[in-house]
Amino acid sequence: MPREVLLIEPNYNNKYPPMGLMKISTYYKKLGDNVRFFKGDLHDFVAELLCEDLLRILKAIKPKILWTKYTPILTRYIRFGKAIEIPDTKDFSNSDVMDNIEFYRKKYISKEYQENPRFDVICITTLFTFHWKITIDTINFAKNLCKDKSCVFIGGIAATIVPDYIEKETGIRPMTGILDKPGVLDKKNKIIIDTLPLDYSILYEIDYKYFVTDAYFSYSTRGCVNACNFCAVPILEPQYQKYISLRKQLISTIKVFGEQKNLLLLDNNVLASPRFNKIIDDIKKLGFKHGATYLPPNPYSLAIRNLRKGINDRAYIKICVELFEKLLQIIKNQHICKDISIYHEIYKKIYDAKCDQFYTATKKSILALASFIAPYYKKYAYHPISRQRYVDFNQGIDARLITKENMKKLAEVNIRPLRIAFDYWEMRKAYEKAIRTAAKAGITHMSNYMLYNYNDKPVDLYHRMLLTINLCEELNLAIYSFPMKYHPIDDPVFFKNREFIGKYWCRKYIRAVQAVLTSTHGKIGRGKQFFEAAFGRNENEFDEIMLMPESLIIKRFEHDEAMRKRYPEKCKNTKYNLKTTDKWRKIFNSLDFEKRKIAIEIICKNKFDDPDIYCKDKSIRKLLSFYQIQRDE
Ligand code: SF4
Repeated sequence: MPREVLLIEPNYNNKYPPMGLMKISTYYKKLGDNVRFFKGDLHDFVAELLCEDLLRILKAIKPKILWTKYTPILTRYIRFGKAIEIPDTKDFSNSDVMDNIEFYRKKYISKEYQENPRFDVICITTLFTFHWKITIDTINFAKNLCKDKSCVFIGGIAATIVPDYIEKETGIRPMTGILDKPGVLDKKNKIIIDTLPLDYSILYEIDYKYFVTDAYFSYSTRGCVNACNFCAVPILEPQYQKYISLRKQLISTIKVFGEQKNLLLLDNNVLASPRFNKIIDDIKKLGFKHGATYLPPNPYSLAIRNLRKGINDRAYIKICVELFEKLLQIIKNQHICKDISIYHEIYKKIYDAKCDQFYTATKKSILALASFIAPYYKKYAYHPISRQRYVDFNQGIDARLITKENMKKLAEVNIRPLRIAFDYWEMRKAYEKAIRTAAKAGITHMSNYMLYNYNDKPVDLYHRMLLTINLCEELNLAIYSFPMKYHPIDDPVFFKNREFIGKYWCRKYIRAVQAVLTSTHGKIGRGKQFFEAAFGRNENEFDEIMLMPESLIIKRFEHDEAMRKRYPEKCKNTKYNLKTTDKWRKIFNSLDFEKRKIAIEIICKNKFDDPDIYCKDKSIRKLLSFYQIQRDE
C-alpha cells in the first residue's frame, strides 16, 4: 500500500526552496508513496483536505454538477462557516447537499481530522532558530495530522542546532544533521537520501514563490575545515566532504525538469577542497564554462510531458493552467493577432474544457487540449532568448584560501557573483588581497557577507563597507555588500528571537543600519556617492546617522537641508524640504558632554514612548521628542 506522505515547510519567508524536502520527496516517490507538499496556513490546508472529501460526496449525490468549480467557496465555508455565503442556486437547493456541507464544517470545528488523521508520514523542515514560534506551532499542528506520531520527522537547520528545545516543546525528537546515512526514514531502507536528485515539481504545488528559482541547487562539497565560533556549519555539517559529483544530480534534473538557467551551490568552503580543480572542470562540462549561455526549454511541452508521465499531477495541472493564462494574456495584451478571434477561440476551448481554473481542470482535459494549444503556445508565448547563465557559490568562499591559481581556475566558469565573506575588520588584509587576486583573474562581479553585531564595533562595519566601495572604484568592479546581523544560534535566551545585541552595539544602532538597508534593499552597491549619502562620508557622519531618529534616516532628503545641498540631483523628486534633521542636529550639537551622554543612553535603548524619553532636562527632552516623529508624518 502506498503511504500518504506530507512534506511541510513552516510558513516563514525563505529565499531558497527546501532542498532536504525535495530530496525526501524523491525518496518517497521512488518507493511508490503519494507525496504532497505544503507551505502556508495549515488551517487552510485542513479545510482544503476536507473540501476534497466533501466534493467526492457531493459528486455522488448530484453527479451532473461540476462541483469542483465551488472549491474556493466550499473550502472557505468549511474554514469560516456562515461568514461565507453559499450561492443561492439550484445546485445547492438539496437538503442532502447542504447537510453534507454543514457536516464537513462541523468536522473542521470539532477537529475531527485529528481523530482520523490521514497521513502515514509527515516530514517538517526547519530553518533559522529565530523562526521559533511559527516552527513550533507548525510542528504541533502538523503532528495531529499523522496517524502515528513516531512517523513525524523533523529535520533541517534549527532541528540540528537546538534539538532538545524542539523536543521539549513538541514531544518529538528531531533528526539532526544531514540525511547521509541509510535507514534514516525507513529503518531497513538502504537509500541515502542526501544523494538523491531534487524533486523540483513539489514547488509548483504551493502558492508561495521562492525568491530564487530557475537554478540547479546542489553541493559540490559539504561542511568546512574551519570552526569559526559564530558559525553553525560545524554543527550542521561536521564532516568535511571534499568532493560530491554534480554530474549525476544535474543530469537527472535535466531529464525530468529540463535545463535550469543557473547553478547555485551551497558549499560552505569549496576552496578547502583538494579536488577544487576537478569540481570546476565538472561545472564547465555541465555547461557553465566562461561565457556560457542558456536557452530555456518550452515550459508548456515540459509540463505536458511530465503530466503525461504522471510525475506530479497536482503540480503540473497547476502549471498548465498558469501557462494557459499566460498565453491568453500575451495574445490579448500585445495584440499579436489583429484578429482577436484567435484569442476567443483559444479562450473558448480552455473554458469549455474547464481548464481555466486549476481546481476545475483535470489531467484528462488538459491532455485532451494539448495538441490544440501546443502550436499556439509555441507561436505566441515561447520566444526563447539566449542568456548568460551563472554559477554562484552562494554561501561565500573563504578569502584566506584565495590564491592566484584557484582564482584563475574559478574564472574558467561563469562565476557571478563571487561571494567573499568579510566578517570582521581584522581580516581586511586577506579580504583586500582576495578581491585584488580575483579581479586580476578577470572576475568582475563580486559580493560579500559582512557579519555585524558580533564582536565588531559599529564603526568597523562602516570601514568594511568603505573599503569595499574604494576597491570597486579603484579596480572598476561591481561588489555588493550584504551586511548580515549576527544572531546567536544556541544561546538559551536569544536563539528564539532576533533580540540579541552585540557587545559594542545597541538597539538603536541596529535599527539605524536596518533603516538604511531598507532603502537599499539590504545591500550596498557600487558608487561612492551613493554609499556616502547612505552611511556618511566619515566616521563622524556615520555616528550621526546611527543616532539620528529613524524617520529622518528613512526620509533623509526630505528632512535634511545639508543633504539636499550636497546631493541636489537625488532630491529632484522629493516632495518636501522640511529641515527637521537640521533642527535635530542643532539641538544635539548644543548639548554639553554630560547631557549628550544622558541623551545617547536613552537613544540607544530605541524606545521612544513618553515615559521612555522622560527626562528632567528641557533640551534633552526637546531632542528626544524628534524620535517620536513617525516616518509618514
Ligand atoms: S569559514 Fe565560513 S563556513 Fe567555515 S566555519 Fe568559518 S564562517 Fe563557517
